[in-house]
Amino acid sequence: MDMPVLDHRGPEFARLCRRVLDGIKTIFKCAGPVIIYPASGTGAWEAALTNTLSPGDRVLMIETGHFATLWKNMSVRLGIQPEFIASDWRTGADPAAIEARLREDKAHTFKAVCVVHNETSTGCISHIDAVRKAIDAARHPALLMVDTISSLASIDYRHDEWGVDVTVGGSQKGLMLPPGLSFNALGSKALAAAKSAKLPKSFWGWEEMIAANKSGSFPYTPATNMLYGLAEAIDMLHEEGLENVFARHDRLAEATRRAVRAWGLEVWCREPKDYSSSLTAVLMPSGYSADAFRHAALRYFNISLGAGLTKLAGKVFRIGHLGDTNDLTIVGALAGVEMGLQIAGVPHKSVGVQAAIDYLVSVHDVPATSSVAEILPLHM
Ligand code: PLP
Repeated sequence: MDMPVLDHRGPEFARLCRRVLDGIKTIFKCAGPVIIYPASGTGAWEAALTNTLSPGDRVLMIETGHFATLWKNMSVRLGIQPEFIASDWRTGADPAAIEARLREDKAHTFKAVCVVHNETSTGCISHIDAVRKAIDAARHPALLMVDTISSLASIDYRHDEWGVDVTVGGSQKGLMLPPGLSFNALGSKALAAAKSAKLPKSFWGWEEMIAANKSGSFPYTPATNMLYGLAEAIDMLHEEGLENVFARHDRLAEATRRAVRAWGLEVWCREPKDYSSSLTAVLMPSGYSADAFRHAALRYFNISLGAGLTKLAGKVFRIGHLGDTNDLTIVGALAGVEMGLQIAGVPHKSVGVQAAIDYLVSVHDVPATSSVAEILPLHM
């Protein structure tokens, strides 16, 4: 990204533009266009809603946590009527509840179902393939819109295969970039809906963006240097291989959960099938403030842990294990948490880091017939 700022109407930019527009499709796994906004994820949420819906439209949203709630609140401000399927924030979206609600909606008044794939506030994922099946089982024509802001390029995601109509993404998590870019990946049904959508939009309009992108340009000044970073991030993900990227995230998440349990603490996500590979939210023992602990960890060990948000403020802290992370960085992070628990006087057993190390060592495929010392002589 540390490149000279280039003329965004010149030929070099057009090459970069085409490279990222094609490359990002391989990350969303979609054949249709991907819109790249110079904006944070919230902008891409707004774009998804305003390009597909009209004032007064009903949408079905699922209360998986803080971010799902913010998206719902935004829809109200935009003049949409959301119905929110309630939850206790400890699981992903329930496909059966979605199917039941859509079956009741015989007049097809819901125009969209909106789901957060990875709820960053809780560490629970929703199973998008199952949500698609639920919509199909109910024979409901609603669009499926999915927020992948904290799952894209960290957790398996397939826009086309799972029949998603609009996928919302952001640069600052699995893509390993600073905040500042966000995405809408589009399917044909979403593009058709955009033709009749009446919500006002200008900056967010897909049509002008798609038209400009065709010639390798943007309808306004793009975040040029972020796009150099995006091109590099896409290359890095493919060098490692997306399947390996997902497996690495799964492994670091499992190591983290083993550390949490060994400390004697509780993983906030209740359903093992919904565990997030991007982050783990940890419940504080009752009577102890997660924020006081986080402040101590930051002050003494310079480690910044995620705060509990809204309903979970002070109750949980969150360990991120997504993006440019590896076995060593996660062990370092877990050591920071363990030292923080100790210095803050939070009751725990100081054996979490060891549990994570044991797991990370155990997953390596060392041939049974030979010891590591035989493969690589220790004494040269
Ligand atoms: N959705 C999810 C799942 C998020 O984690 C976030 C931010 O962390 C957002 C939406 C909002 O994105 P932004 O803060 O980039 O505007």
